Amino acid sequence: MEFIPRVNPAEEFLEIYLYDSQYRHTNDMRSCISSVLQNHKLGTSIITPEMIKNLRIKLLLKSGVNIQIGCRQYPLILLWLDPAKYEQDDLFDKELFMKHLYHEFTHLIDRRNPIFGITERKEQNAENLLSDFKYLLKDLWNLYIDGRLWRRDIKVKSFKDYMDGWFGKKLAKGWCIDSDVIKLYKKAWNAEKLTYARLVSLAKKIGNPLRTN
Ligand SMILES: [Zn+2]
Repeated sequence: MEFIPRVNPAEEFLEIYLYDSQYRHTNDMRSCISSVLQNHKLGTSIITPEMIKNLRIKLLLKSGVNIQIGCRQYPLILLWLDPAKYEQDDLFDKELFMKHLYHEFTHLIDRRNPIFGITERKEQNAENLLSDFKYLLKDLWNLYIDGRLWRRDIKVKSFKDYMDGWFGKKLAKGWCIDSDVIKLYKKAWNAEKLTYARLVSLAKKIGNPLRTN
């Protein structure tokens, strides 16, 4: 795969990799990233000026990719985004782009938060243990992030969006989802301080009663 790196020496913390040189709004993206890092409402004690100084971000812009953040090589952060979601000719959907950044950087904040308590080993164990429910655990973490952002007026996905999405698909396949499960989801949505271990235990509880009819 050919990369076309565009590096602005004034802001060395961010490298932008374009898979297609027709993407136009890299400067807007750059300023959004700076702004979200400096103003993230959930990151006040985690994203410090010191942390921003050490951070290096590779923004990988590629059509069709799922939005994803890679924090395994911290302080190097990989961020995959599909520019087609935000660009239409000369228009750049800054609001949507910022929302998505707030969500992705919350994964980073949680990962850097000792109270959340995630480690590579715990993550591996949970994924092995929950092989059938790996997506459920991912979904639950996303929901926990979007619940906190929602209450801070950053509306990425609503609780209903989650119900209609993963949940809706399971229901359509004939999975039985009782109201206790919805209550557990609601618990994660309303939570402000979950640990990774708690997310795993919620995922287990949610996973158990999910059975085909
Ligand atoms: Zn996410």
